[in-house]
Amino acid sequence: MSLPSTTQVLIVGGGPAGSSTAHFLSSAGIDVTLVDRATFPRSKPCAEYLSPEASRLLEAMGALHLVEEAGAAQLTGMVVRAPNGFEIEGAFVAEHGFRGFRDRGLALRREVLDELLLNRARAAGTAVHEAVRVESITRLDRGYDVRVRTNETLHTIRTSLLIGADGLRSVVARELGLARRRAWPRRLALVAHWSGVRDIGARGEMHVQHDGYVGLADVGHGLTNVALVVPASQARDMNGNPEAFVQRWIAQYPHLASRFEGATRITPVRATGPFGSRARRAYAPDAALVGDAADFFDPFTGEGIYSALRGGELLAPFAAQAVRASSARESLHALRAYERERARAFTGKWRVEQLIGLAVSFPRLMNHAARVLSRRTELADLLIGVTGDFVPAREVLRPGVLWRMLVPPVRT
Ligand SMILES: Cc1cc2nc3c(=O)[nH]c(=O)nc-3n(C[C@H](O)[C@H](O)[C@H](O)COP(=O)(O)OP(=O)(O)OC[C@H]3O[C@@H](n4cnc5c(N)ncnc54)[C@H](O)[C@@H]3O)c2cc1C
Repeated sequence: MSLPSTTQVLIVGGGPAGSSTAHFLSSAGIDVTLVDRATFPRSKPCAEYLSPEASRLLEAMGALHLVEEAGAAQLTGMVVRAPNGFEIEGAFVAEHGFRGFRDRGLALRREVLDELLLNRARAAGTAVHEAVRVESITRLDRGYDVRVRTNETLHTIRTSLLIGADGLRSVVARELGLARRRAWPRRLALVAHWSGVRDIGARGEMHVQHDGYVGLADVGHGLTNVALVVPASQARDMNGNPEAFVQRWIAQYPHLASRFEGATRITPVRATGPFGSRARRAYAPDAALVGDAADFFDPFTGEGIYSALRGGELLAPFAAQAVRASSARESLHALRAYERERARAFTGKWRVEQLIGLAVSFPRLMNHAARVLSRRTELADLLIGVTGDFVPAREVLRPGVLWRMLVPPVRT
């Protein structure tokens, strides 16, 4: 399939955000072209966990049964272990009564998940072109000329609406002047798959230490995803050998080291970061950003796949309006409405993420919160429900609830 010279909508990036936007827009009858610099299946450093509510979006894309058939692990909740050894345990099904679309979370290798989602966009009618890298963008009176490179050849695609779904270091956000890095937290991640890690159950695990945290989760097919996140300042200790760094980090904590005895690393350690970024706005005239290109905080509560899929679902109707608009003003009006919808959908969760990010950055605070929440299990369930996207953030942002998270129950 050769590259088109014009398209109504050009989406840059075929990760979850691009695939979801493409799927919903193509389903609405819009002419959509999607380009990605990678050739799929491609891997992506990620802890690979999907919240119970992400299943609603997978279902809407006709992908839920495919994800399950691909052997996704089913997760019943999360456990967070603080440096002092106290554990915050939260279940997805709990007494608070809020329920996700499904009672379980899912975990599947991104290599499998992302290709499957991209195929759903194709099935809806999107023209997908792999191994096509966007290099630069020129603003026209209406729309954009987008310069792309495939192999050694340069092409120009003219589009009425440009969508940047191109991840953390989005070239679209940069070219539109919308990119902005977060000053805090500045962390790096090192991710690999292992087999034979002991006692991996049906809960995702987060182990927080004073020098970083590591997530462990079953991702199906007997594999454990190991995602180590450390302050970016530790990059110099890696000496170009991330494998040895991960081994050393795990070896210093006996409760982790014993579980890796006899385990084998199956995939290379892939590094990424720093990852905090937030665009000034998620739109510009005739353009929009979605997924990590628009906003990403930290993988601890990142839930980035859910946000990427949900962002695509939110954007599609406004993008369709923008493309069909009879004037530049009407088009901009639709894109501004997308920005407002994003704020409505994500602001509460962003606040909770920042509070959790604060606790993770200050081990004494984390120790204290874990000591309290290990005894206030109903609050732990609520918090896990918010990070799992099916409990409204306001449930934990109430002053009384925040206070109870910090003050231990009186012993009777
Ligand atoms: C260590 C770590 C652990 C994480 N763990 C989780 C987790 O357990 N659960 C969760 O929900 N989220 C997690 N996240 C977040 C999640 O990975 C992201 O939020 C998610 O991938 C965002 O999807 P996206 O489609 O916006 O971007 P991406 O998945 O990054 O996709 C962007 C696509 O754009 C393409 N692209 C980039 N530049 C160009 C270009 N110039 N031209 C053409 N194509 C281009 C890339 O090839 C890529 O395919 C984690 C993140 C990190 C860093």
